[in-house]
Amino acid sequence: MDCSSAQQIWEAALGELQVQVSKQNFRTWLEKTVGLSLEDNQLIVGTPNTFVTEYLDKNLRSLIEKTLLGLTNGEARVVFQVDGCFRDLPRRDALPAAAASRSMFNTKYTFSSFVAGSCNQLARDAALGIAENPGQRYNPLFIYGGPGLGKTHLLHAIGHAALEKRLKVLCVCAERFTNEFVSSLYQRKTEEFNNKYRNVDILLMDDIQFLIGKEQTEVSFFHAFNELHIANRQIVVTSDLPPGSLPLLQQRLRSRLEGGLTAVVHPPDFETRLAILQAKAGQQGANLPPAVLELIARQAAQSIRQLEGLLNRVTAYAGLVGGSVTPQLAAKAIEAIADTASRAATVTPDMVIKAVAESYRLPSAELLARKRDKQTALARQVAMYLIRQETGCSLAQIGQALGGRDHATVLQACGKIAKEMESCRYLRSKIVDIQHRICFG
Ligand code: ADP
Ligand code: MG
Repeated sequence: MDCSSAQQIWEAALGELQVQVSKQNFRTWLEKTVGLSLEDNQLIVGTPNTFVTEYLDKNLRSLIEKTLLGLTNGEARVVFQVDGCFRDLPRRDALPAAAASRSMFNTKYTFSSFVAGSCNQLARDAALGIAENPGQRYNPLFIYGGPGLGKTHLLHAIGHAALEKRLKVLCVCAERFTNEFVSSLYQRKTEEFNNKYRNVDILLMDDIQFLIGKEQTEVSFFHAFNELHIANRQIVVTSDLPPGSLPLLQQRLRSRLEGGLTAVVHPPDFETRLAILQAKAGQQGANLPPAVLELIARQAAQSIRQLEGLLNRVTAYAGLVGGSVTPQLAAKAIEAIADTASRAATVTPDMVIKAVAESYRLPSAELLARKRDKQTALARQVAMYLIRQETGCSLAQIGQALGGRDHATVLQACGKIAKEMESCRYLRSKIVDIQHRICFG
């Protein structure tokens, strides 16, 4: 096994671990690791230092090996070792200032890699507006939404744009802000701390909900906020809740946060999920057939991070078995974490039939009847295919739902539609249209 597949598998594992451990843990212990080699089911993972090696070995080994189970052929043992490639990196405090502030931002989190959709349009437009004219229209900007929906991505995108403009920008998550504040207290360096956060053009504060209950830190942030705001400096804050629902945050800070623009990021709809997957696959140079991307897009609806994890899993699996990625192979790769049960509970055959009938402009009753003209027959097959995809009904149940057809007919129809989708763009867009109707009525 060559090292590129070791790296691919490790990246897929990281994609999953990212949703299994806390963000802080991920950053500290996993983010800077690399997959070095995989031989005889032993995966060697390179770490930046012995400290990380020991921590991973003691605390995360079993979780990691469990995660690898789904990604390798059989059980894999993982060995952590310090990797030489990290040794030549300059120490963070030796970096020149510009490079140090650049390293504050994830290079992948830019506006050009951010896929806009109705779920995030306002937040993204406001962030872009700020990147162009900081401190003017939306100040502060408050972005909130569930985990994995692009809040940090937008924050870093603003950061990159600000550096391009040679502005002084600081990005900090509330947890780190708290830690720095506390150590400034006992090292008697609060003035230094205050200067640091009050002398910037743009302050980006990630996950402000962490400030809740940390009274002194909150007061310190409140003062920094005021000073910056009065001086027309830009402030952007993210949170997993809207400002009004952060009851433990002191009232005066809450009303400051509500004084600007509040933008929510929602879970992405099907098309946006698909567009994100296309973009990510493109960035990875992975050539996946549209049917596979659609299959993945149908799985993870709540978080884009999860979606990325699935994509990584599928590409790693394909690399491992050395085959081209067919929908069947993709389905196998994601089987373990597919969220089919909860979808099955929400989508019913009737909902699918209604959506198909609307999309093909046919009365639902004709799909259930014997009518066999080309258009009706196609719509019926699409309905069978989608009920199978969306509901988890058995073939016999699907046949029943469509006016008492037998399971062989259903199976044949599903195969036919799946095959045609690979080559027929129109059919794919039709399916997407129907899925949209199923989700949004
Ligand atoms: P949050 O901060 O809301 O928890 P992140 O910003 O960390 O979420 O996003 C999680 C992952 O999803 C990141 O890898 C990010 O690049 C990706 N992501 C989120 N939204 C988008 C989007 N609209 N387009 C492209 N990638 C996205
Ligand atoms: Mg975040």
